[in-house]
Amino acid sequence: MPDTYPRSLQLHIDGEWVEVEGRDIHHVVNPSTGKIISDLPKATKADLDRALDAAGRAFPVWRDTPIAERGAILRKAANLMRERAPDIGRLMTAEQGKPLAQAIGEVSNSANMFDNMVEEAKRCYGRVLVRPAGQQSLVKYQPVGPVAAFSPWNFPVFTPARKLAAALAAGCSIILKPAEETPASPIEMIRCLVDAGLPTGTAQVVFGDPAEVSSHLIASDVIRKISFTGSVPVGKHLLKLAAEGVKRTTMELGGHAPVLVFDDCDMDKALDLLSVQKFRNAGQVCVSPTRFYVQSGIYDKFAEEFTKRAEKVRVGDGFGDNIDMGPLANPRRPEAMERLITDAKAKGAQVRLGGEAMGNGGDNVGFYYRPTVLTDVSLDADIMTTEPFGPVAAMRPFDSMEEAIEQANRLPLGLAAYAFTESLRTANIVGDKIEAGMVAINNLTVSPGDAPFGGVKESGHGSEDGPDGLKAYMVTKAIHQS
Ligand code: NAD
Repeated sequence: MPDTYPRSLQLHIDGEWVEVEGRDIHHVVNPSTGKIISDLPKATKADLDRALDAAGRAFPVWRDTPIAERGAILRKAANLMRERAPDIGRLMTAEQGKPLAQAIGEVSNSANMFDNMVEEAKRCYGRVLVRPAGQQSLVKYQPVGPVAAFSPWNFPVFTPARKLAAALAAGCSIILKPAEETPASPIEMIRCLVDAGLPTGTAQVVFGDPAEVSSHLIASDVIRKISFTGSVPVGKHLLKLAAEGVKRTTMELGGHAPVLVFDDCDMDKALDLLSVQKFRNAGQVCVSPTRFYVQSGIYDKFAEEFTKRAEKVRVGDGFGDNIDMGPLANPRRPEAMERLITDAKAKGAQVRLGGEAMGNGGDNVGFYYRPTVLTDVSLDADIMTTEPFGPVAAMRPFDSMEEAIEQANRLPLGLAAYAFTESLRTANIVGDKIEAGMVAINNLTVSPGDAPFGGVKESGHGSEDGPDGLKAYMVTKAIHQS
């Protein structure tokens, strides 16, 4: 870990960087060592009220700033993020564990999100309806108002960047509460916005007790829109809070992505893609391939070859050379892996690889878990219904396409889904019939930045990214004039 991780961190409220100074603190832990690396101040109620007041004041100023000026500030912030990506990436690896190259790449992708959203905002056209001479009816899109956004620890910069970029490009002010576990890298993204000249109060960052902060912000009359990425139970809770004030919501609540591997697929391509993507970010990805349904004709071969590739995944500290996978982000994840894998084994699953926690090569205290491959997993096993959010692939055979689609759709979740087949007919049917917000066929790209990203069923509602992601921060108004 670099010695540059700050010993204590700050909130950003109403144009000021707010220090610990008598506030309660959250200890930030390096998941590779399990050791405390920093103190994070928790916002008091007075801090939150100050942030709400500032967001309320900032909104009309930012809304009325021409898009060319808004765009120039957001582009400047994006360029600062690119310049600072190596440093921000180091903070992210220290607090989250992912390999440094992936952390730096995440910051660059996040910068691109700001550029994308500026382009979308420039072209957010309304409509003029057909009316008799002397009359006109217009449809306009206007920023919804101040936003409260909550983001998790798996992509500490990219997930909040999606929300910040869209809200700010749309003309909204925003209060961001990233995960307390991974605070420094999103704080540095806010610093890029501030240094780029964003007006006071337009983007603020707070931390605290998540339940207290979210209930306080969502209850405020100032806040008009909630955006949350995280677990289904927390999403349901926030939806109830938002309902009190009939506030608009975007909810990205995770998934349990099925992968349908048909026996007519290009198996090497499928194996190469899936064996890398499965273990990216140690499987802590809401669109991670998790439920592998493999057609009977190639099931044994696929399982054997996948396991050989998974054996080669190099696990270690994210700052190490040639590391593919770091530790899990917090102690809850290895515990969850242990629970799910023990249950699957008891219900008949074969452990082809892994299936146990591992040390970090040093003092054995980091949150490491071995890449794991399970085959013949029973449908009764919890891992077939609970999102594992860890480095485990659970495989089962299937015979017909109908059976595979039925299995893919059996859960109340529907975020991402994947299929590998060389048959155009199969690809078309699978693309149509799978209940998911995103389906990737013969590739694993579901988050290109310019396409809608979001789930169906209990995976949530509302889209992020692209024009749909921008509109999520706007209200539609019709103006009729005679
Ligand atoms: P959790 O349910 O406690 O927290 C999930 C996220 O919500 C965290 O970032 C947390 O800080 C935040 N949170 C919790 N309570 C909140 C509240 N009342 N108000 C606002 N924010 C709140 O679970 P966890 O242990 O952090 O993660 C467990 C599961 O959550 C994972 O297994 C996965 O299914 C899901 N998850 C999904 C995503 C995603 O990208 N969709 C990201 C992280 C976690």
